[in-house]
Amino acid sequence: ILMTQSCGKSGDVDSLYRDPSQPVEARVNNLLSQMTLEEKIGQLNQLSMPYGEGAFENLCDAVSRGEVGSLLNVPTAALSDSLQRVAMDSSRLGIPLLLARDVIHGYKTVFPIPLGQAATFDTALVKLGARIAATEASSDGIRWTFAPMIDIARDPRWGRIAEGCGEDVYLTSVMAKAMVDGFQGDDLTSPSSIAACAKHFAGYGASEAGRDYNSTYITERQLRNVYLPPFEEACKAGCLTYMSSFNDNDGVPSSGNKHLLTDILRGDWGFDGFVVSDWASVNEMVSHGFCSDPKDAAMKGLTAGLDMEMVSGTYIRYLKELVEEGKVSIDDIDRSVANILRVKFKLGLFENPYTGTPQSVKYDKAHLAAARQSAAEGTVMLKNDNGTLPLSADIKRILVTGPMADAPHDQLGTWAFDGEKDSTVTVLDALRDIYGDKMQIIYEPGLGYSRDKNTAGIAKAVNAARNADAVIAVVGEEAILSGEAHSLADINLLGAQGELIEALSRTGKPLVTVFIAGRPLTIAKQVEESDAVLYSFHPGTMGGPAIADLLFGVVSPSGKLPVTFPKSVGQIPVYYSEKNTGRPASGHETLLNDIPAEAGQTSLGCTSYYLDAGFGPLFPFGYGLSYGDFSYSDLAIDKSSYGVDDTIKATVTLSNNGKREATEVAQLYVRDMVGSVTRPVKELKGFKRVTLAPGESTQVTFELPVSELAFYGLEMERKVEPGDFTLWIGGDSDCTLSTSFEVTQ
Ligand code: BGC
Repeated sequence: ILMTQSCGKSGDVDSLYRDPSQPVEARVNNLLSQMTLEEKIGQLNQLSMPYGEGAFENLCDAVSRGEVGSLLNVPTAALSDSLQRVAMDSSRLGIPLLLARDVIHGYKTVFPIPLGQAATFDTALVKLGARIAATEASSDGIRWTFAPMIDIARDPRWGRIAEGCGEDVYLTSVMAKAMVDGFQGDDLTSPSSIAACAKHFAGYGASEAGRDYNSTYITERQLRNVYLPPFEEACKAGCLTYMSSFNDNDGVPSSGNKHLLTDILRGDWGFDGFVVSDWASVNEMVSHGFCSDPKDAAMKGLTAGLDMEMVSGTYIRYLKELVEEGKVSIDDIDRSVANILRVKFKLGLFENPYTGTPQSVKYDKAHLAAARQSAAEGTVMLKNDNGTLPLSADIKRILVTGPMADAPHDQLGTWAFDGEKDSTVTVLDALRDIYGDKMQIIYEPGLGYSRDKNTAGIAKAVNAARNADAVIAVVGEEAILSGEAHSLADINLLGAQGELIEALSRTGKPLVTVFIAGRPLTIAKQVEESDAVLYSFHPGTMGGPAIADLLFGVVSPSGKLPVTFPKSVGQIPVYYSEKNTGRPASGHETLLNDIPAEAGQTSLGCTSYYLDAGFGPLFPFGYGLSYGDFSYSDLAIDKSSYGVDDTIKATVTLSNNGKREATEVAQLYVRDMVGSVTRPVKELKGFKRVTLAPGESTQVTFELPVSELAFYGLEMERKVEPGDFTLWIGGDSDCTLSTSFEVTQ
């Protein structure tokens, strides 16, 4: 139908904008100057792939009339190309579509969920994961992903904690850059480069009580010191697009928040790409009670600086009227259209609108190997009593049990629409495949799925355990339990999984519990009952082989927690970079006998606590064991006093006193002792992955520019405040090896 429609391109159009040798701004201006108001508004409109009778034809008609700037979720390369052909050949000006999809942690080859990738503390590997995702996705015509999600999240009840890099500002910032670099590649015009989208801008991770879509109450200072730095880092890395978040912060929904979308993003950071709304978030400003009706929402969104509207259609319906009524200026429209066209030109879409990456890249061997490495590095060993792990390959019989041991779909985690369970390798698959001819592998799941409350199968698993030399219990959360709109009030192990672990532990057999989940769970009891514990945030396609490699010591665990693990849900929010109270902790006795008067009284000072939970969490941020035995000594810095333009050189001796080669993530933390406003008791400012042979020691050096100590103080300006600082280097955020220095004017 469509190919036959007449193409107006040859008519009166001045084709300067089609000339790739022209500068991008000249092309943008030339094209903009030839667009009708309707065509301009069309560029601001993003639709989702429609289904149903006649839907495709109607879509093509809308595209040919220039009413669509972008589409999300076009399912195949063939459809992408045919829609693109309509845009190129049948619309008056031949403006290509920008085709988008949520490629969050892989496409066909699914990598660990972002929280798991953050646990690798390996920026090069995270960048590679994003590059691979971009390559595979672009083979289906996708040139824009709604990632990275870089919302700081300190509440594991929030289901979307799975999608980000956890609680820390620095870790999330460096991962944001790694992902933007990976998705966008070295050359934006390459067919495998896809535009990144920093989301959700901003503060969504602070949704009150971890309930999704909820309001936030982030102060301006906290916004600038905690929630915005990863977004600024993404901007510096050249991230082409941003997505406004669903939440209203202090009463203003992000999609209508001029302070965020214009003053900060464009004014302070100089962003020149475009902002897309979240799904229907423009229209949702009506439900928020911020706009009187959809037309008011269109006006507030556009004038705040929200360039493209995702699916709710208020722009396409009302912007023309609003311009005619003088409520929206043509300059505002032109500004947003230019922002979108600029991105399309930068991506080379006018020259190469069609799919240019071959289908054969999907599940490429190198992609699977990288996914396996990412899953191994992102799995955190939380306990290993008496050297239970690694298991010996001479073992005769192992029992594999638990509802996540052979749950291919569920180990992919949230936002993995394109990953196929048939291509996913589970822990059971991998153990059978690698060790099946060397030992007897008994499989008795105990439970059908993670929420299963039917305990009938537990006895069978326990009987099988009695005949085994070791037990590997794989428990946790199905994919559906985390992600968008999947918050939980209670984050204990679900269903009868707790009973399964308890019953297995009573057999006295060595019990290795492997958690596969989308968030930190409150697992104190199961950790106590197990001899060894591995924690894997939904590890993706190659999760099984990665975990098998760790269990049998082919790879030493090196993952570190990107988020604090609470002892109980009542401790939330609990995160390491808290503030001190005014009350010394010493002298406070815990009134409940089983709680030792512990952490919080040593390096951190006067933090606050609960009578029934003490000071510390179950596991601190940055925590993770390995098969080595690492110690830190001789912490030194090159000077005792630095100017604001200096760089601090800090060194420490790291030794592997163990019997196996292993990798440690050395972490550097800083505290600004006195500020114009109070400062966190510790802040991560650097990390390094270091691999050491048994008995080997090395000097690890960090270079920290003093400018990295800047923050928004009382005057709300970002600057370094001279004074005293403490600096720590160690293996987690509870580390105590420290030194101090001074910063002078
Ligand atoms: C989510 C976004 C996502 C968008 C498009 C929304 O519901 O909040 O993160 O990118 O849908 O699928």
